[in-house]
Amino acid sequence: MIPQQQKPPIIWLNVALFTLTFLIAIIGVPLYLYFYNLDLTLVVMTIVAFCCCGMSITAGYHRLWAHQSYQANRFLRMMFALGGAFALQNSILHWCADHRIHHRYVDNNNKDPYSAKKGFFYSHIGWMLRQYQASRYHDYSNCIDLQQDPIVVWQHKYYLLLAAIMNIGVPVVVGLLLGNLWGALLFVGVLRLVLSHHTTFFINSLAHKWGSQPYTDRNSARDNGIIAWLTFGEGYHNYHHIFENDYRNGICWWQFDPTKWLIKSCSWLGWTTNLKVTPADRIEKTRTKMEFMRLQNKLKSLPNNSARLQQLQFEYESLMSKISDYYQVNKRLIDLKQKKLANNYENFEFMQQYELIRQKLNQQRREWKYLLQQYTV
Ligand SMILES: [Zn+2]
Ligand SMILES: [Zn+2]
Repeated sequence: MIPQQQKPPIIWLNVALFTLTFLIAIIGVPLYLYFYNLDLTLVVMTIVAFCCCGMSITAGYHRLWAHQSYQANRFLRMMFALGGAFALQNSILHWCADHRIHHRYVDNNNKDPYSAKKGFFYSHIGWMLRQYQASRYHDYSNCIDLQQDPIVVWQHKYYLLLAAIMNIGVPVVVGLLLGNLWGALLFVGVLRLVLSHHTTFFINSLAHKWGSQPYTDRNSARDNGIIAWLTFGEGYHNYHHIFENDYRNGICWWQFDPTKWLIKSCSWLGWTTNLKVTPADRIEKTRTKMEFMRLQNKLKSLPNNSARLQQLQFEYESLMSKISDYYQVNKRLIDLKQKKLANNYENFEFMQQYELIRQKLNQQRREWKYLLQQYTV
């Protein structure tokens, strides 16, 4: 542990900002509710403002700019730039520089700016309370690509002004429209900011502590459906850390990922393009490999394990090869369907072969699941 006198200087502005907004929210909101009736329009405006902030960070700062997992038109980028200033999480350029380092050196206490290995408090908010990053604060060399985007450059240049306009201007305008200035300043101004801050911060703290690791255990990132509800879908963080260029975090249709839905919906309007998706065979193989390694370690600790280990190895290799076979024929099927040739008589034999390979894979998947279940009681 670093002795007290060697700790970097405190950033009093951040300490004051986080403390004051938090205190105003937890004291002011109950007092307001005690003395006044809550206006439904004010609640709706608070939720809308909260969603604008949250999604500007997840869809804009994170998936668009930090990872370039899709492209967005000028209008959407402008909305995200303003929403990001409203969320008060520093400029796009600064946020992305930190985040790219986080991915590159995840869990490395000397390099990862919000390393989860330094504890929950540090990764949640502590990393912003002292000048831990002073030596590289203005180093944006890992974001040369973003410096080509005029909206990113403009937002960085006028960040403080934009943040002030959004955080004071929007609540004041809402307050004047509703005839309830103090209510709007409290709810749309402060409560929205505190909720937006801490739900985003959960991605660095909670999503590196609580949940499962279906894809990799080489870093602390976790998948957690509950955190996804608090973070606009960023709770599938184990997946995200291994397939960071995928525009989705929750890959199944039922997984709560409103950021993915927003990006996809905007693609139907032509506002977003080039949505990157990890090939399904890579995802399945990565998950299978993780399951294999886990069970292998478990079996190694059991007595008389050689026959079981051999069976595991056999089933694993068999599943991996069937995954490859299936996705290869599936690729050809997609191609034929695009050319509207799948039902042609000449492709009858291929369709039969495809069906057989698909059934073999499903059978092997069932056997693999059964094998895993035997040891996970
Ligand atoms: Zn990321
Ligand atoms: Zn992370």
